[in-house]
Amino acid sequence: MLADNGSIVSGKLAAKKVDLVAGDRVTFEQGDAEVFVKESQPAQRSLYRTFHGTLRRMGANIDQLCVITASGATWNAVAIDRMLAAARVQSIPTVLVVNKIDLGIGEIAEMVNTYAKVGIPVIQCSAKRGDGVDQVRALLEQSSVRVMALCGVSGVGKSTILNALVPGAKTRIGEVSDKTGQGRQTTSQPRGFLYSAADKTSKIVIDLPGVQFFGLAHLAPQDVTLAFEEIAQAALRCQFRDCGHVKEKNCAVREAVDRGEIASWRYHSFLQILEEIEDAKEY
Ligand code: GDP
Ligand code: ZN
Repeated sequence: MLADNGSIVSGKLAAKKVDLVAGDRVTFEQGDAEVFVKESQPAQRSLYRTFHGTLRRMGANIDQLCVITASGATWNAVAIDRMLAAARVQSIPTVLVVNKIDLGIGEIAEMVNTYAKVGIPVIQCSAKRGDGVDQVRALLEQSSVRVMALCGVSGVGKSTILNALVPGAKTRIGEVSDKTGQGRQTTSQPRGFLYSAADKTSKIVIDLPGVQFFGLAHLAPQDVTLAFEEIAQAALRCQFRDCGHVKEKNCAVREAVDRGEIASWRYHSFLQILEEIEDAKEY
C-alpha cells in the first residue's frame, strides 16, 4: 500500500521505507515530463539525526561537510559539537567555517582554537565582505569532493555562503530572508544544488536545514566518546575499559577536564548527548 507521499506503509515492503535524500545516487528513466527513479544505490557517509524519536537521514555520500558558525550572538557550542559528532561517527570529513569575522573574533577565539587543537580544520570568513569564502569554494573544487553539505544553526550566514557558491540558490527555492524576519521560510528538507566546477565536473551542494537541536539519541554511548577526539584520547587512560566518563573512579577524561586539558564546555556537550541517549531509553 502506498501512502500519499509515496512511502510504503504496509505489506511486505513496509520495513523498507522509501528514503531518498539529497546526495543519493540513483538509476533513472526519463519520462515525458519527469524523471523516474528506478533504483537507489547504497549510500556511504550519510548524516543522521533523531527527530521526535525517529531517525532521519539528512544527506548522503557527503565527501565534505561544512559546519557553519558565526562570531556574535549565534555562536552555539552545543549545537556545533552535536553536528561535529554526527559527522565524525560517519567518518565525514568536516571543517568548521567561522563566519562574520568582520564582527571580531575576540569572544570566540578560545573556542575556535580548541577546535583547531582537536584536529578540526577551521576556515574564517566574512561572507558579507566576501573574504574567506574562496577557501570554502576551494574545498568544493577538490577532485575528491562530489557532494558537499552545509549545516549550521539559523542566522550564521549559511544562505549567504550558499548563494556565494551557487548564485541564486536561495531565490530559486523561493526563500526570502529579510531583517524583520517577515516572509522568511525555514526549509525543513535538505536540498541539493548543482555546482559546476572549474574543470566542468558536476557536484552537489546540500543545504541542510538550520536545526537548533541536532538530535543524537540513536548513537551508542561509546560512539559519543569516539566522536570527541580529545575525550577518545583521554579515555584510553581510564582505569575501567567500560568507563562511561561520568561518575566512575579514576576516569582519565574527568581528570583531564579538571586539569583544563579538555575544555569544560566540550565535556558539557558530551554529557548532554549522553543524557539525551539515556532519556530516550525511558520511552
Ligand atoms: P542563515 O540563517 O544561516 O541562512 O543566515 P543568512 O545567510 O540568512 O544570514 C543571516 C544574517 O547574517 C543576515 O542578516 C546576513 O546579512 C548576515 N550575515 C551573513 N554573513 C555575514 C557576515 O559575514 N558578516 C556579518 N556581519 N553579517 C553577515
Ligand atoms: Zn573515563
